[in-house]
Amino acid sequence: MTPPPSSIAILGGGTAGWMAACLMAKAWPQARITVIESPDIGIVGVGEGSTPQLKALFDALGLAEADWMPAADATYKAGIAFHGWSDDTPAYFHPFAGQIDLHTQGAFFASTRARRHGADVPAHPDRFFLNARLAEAGRAPIAPAHFPFRIGYGYHFDAHKVGHVLRDAAVARGVVHLPRRVHDVVVDTAGQVVALTLDEGDALHAELFVDASGFASAIAQQALGVPFRSFANTLFADRAVVMPTPRQAALPVQTKATALSAGWAWGIPLTSRTGNGYVYASRYLSSDAAETELRRHLGLLDADVAARHLSMKVGRVETSWTANCLAIGLAQGFIEPLEATALHIVQATIEGFIGAYQAGSRDAFNAAIARRYDGIRDYIVAHYRLNRRSGPFWRDVAANDDLSDDLKAIMTAWFTGGDVAAVVEGRGLAGYYAPMSWEVLLAGYGTFPDATRLRTAPPVADLAAIDTLLSGCLLNFPDHQAALDGHRRMP
Ligand SMILES: Cc1cc2nc3c(=O)[nH]c(=O)nc-3n(C[C@H](O)[C@H](O)[C@H](O)COP(=O)(O)OP(=O)(O)OC[C@H]3O[C@@H](n4cnc5c(N)ncnc54)[C@H](O)[C@@H]3O)c2cc1C
Repeated sequence: MTPPPSSIAILGGGTAGWMAACLMAKAWPQARITVIESPDIGIVGVGEGSTPQLKALFDALGLAEADWMPAADATYKAGIAFHGWSDDTPAYFHPFAGQIDLHTQGAFFASTRARRHGADVPAHPDRFFLNARLAEAGRAPIAPAHFPFRIGYGYHFDAHKVGHVLRDAAVARGVVHLPRRVHDVVVDTAGQVVALTLDEGDALHAELFVDASGFASAIAQQALGVPFRSFANTLFADRAVVMPTPRQAALPVQTKATALSAGWAWGIPLTSRTGNGYVYASRYLSSDAAETELRRHLGLLDADVAARHLSMKVGRVETSWTANCLAIGLAQGFIEPLEATALHIVQATIEGFIGAYQAGSRDAFNAAIARRYDGIRDYIVAHYRLNRRSGPFWRDVAANDDLSDDLKAIMTAWFTGGDVAAVVEGRGLAGYYAPMSWEVLLAGYGTFPDATRLRTAPPVADLAAIDTLLSGCLLNFPDHQAALDGHRRMP
């Protein structure tokens, strides 16, 4: 076993840097940990949606929702509503999975399979899952103590404010915060990072370095020359334009992802405002045209609201752990934010690294992280590849056959009436996206035989019983606003 590092320098005070600081300070309380960040450079500040894993992080750090959520203008998230991705099925909901779904997903799988085999049976995913009902009813996915099933949920939050929450938690654990700019990275002849050179000639030495410097990737890609594997062959979107609007009166418990002409727009409800952005492919749309399209989508064509434009480098480093440096966050890679997976990968990387560091299992760790990236990428690629929309961008992404073997195998199983769950599980992909998520996507897009070719058939699922179960469950959950107000009332 390798002993824990005695000193750690984390370059970057974005969400990734502070997550690393919190988790490493918890795992290695004896280590001297410094987070160095340049206030002049700032953070990207746009990651506003999470997966359920973030709850595990806050729980592990002992941060109660009643404390951190009001501080970060946060709301609950039961899943993502997809609008306009297919002409056949105008909208569907991708729910975060919970234990109650085990009672309905068999019926869903049987229904999608029957429909793929030509039976005209209901197979829209929203009929089958509790979180879709919670979203429709605007109820918070917070199960009361007497409700016997665990419910999966994530959050929406202000990225700057959640960063401050994590910074305060890290500093409370003894992490040193150094607001300075790094000018150079000193690497020795053996390829080990020795120090970060600061302005005024100071240097910060450490045994272990964490590169959380954002898209700059100042240590991993710039100083160590770690190769970058681009995903541009399958994920065409490389820009985003961002624009806030006032908060919605009734706060949804869902992110809204609406397909537009060359990408998609997000709508993320916070208690202070709504976060909006348009992720698009610059090969198909200029930044001016994208801004105009987003303004039109938001009803802001004539409004005096400033837009922020961002470039995105989509892909991942070959190895997240190289020499004595761990790359995390945007310095490590980025998959466009359609399923809000970036912080989830950051968390998985840090937690995996903490175990692997002491075990000395660098190669296995790097392979596992690369595989996680690729597994998540495939799920995002499927959203584009399976679209049924018109227009040059959508036609080109639907025609793109430069797909991984895993994605081809899942699509083949679906379109030949096979067992998607068996393929996802057999290929070891369920840890990235479970069979339920794959089937929700495929059924949500309406990728079934043409309606004129379906034959009349009795339902294979007892939909009335599912309705009774889910509407009974729904009664246990509080109104979203009431749940958020409850945080503020707590001492
Ligand atoms: C359009 C878009 C939408 C996104 N949406 C989501 C989402 O919904 N959900 C999600 O999970 N993620 C999302 N992400 C990703 C998310 O924003 C990032 O993963 C997350 O914010 C972590 O960023 P970071 O900490 O790696 O980098 P940054 O926030 O860019 O932080 C980099 C840090 O490095 C410091 N730094 C850089 N160079 C130097 C230097 N030379 N000296 C000193 N300091 C330096 C900066 O000051 C800063 O503190 C989105 C990203 C984009 C681009």
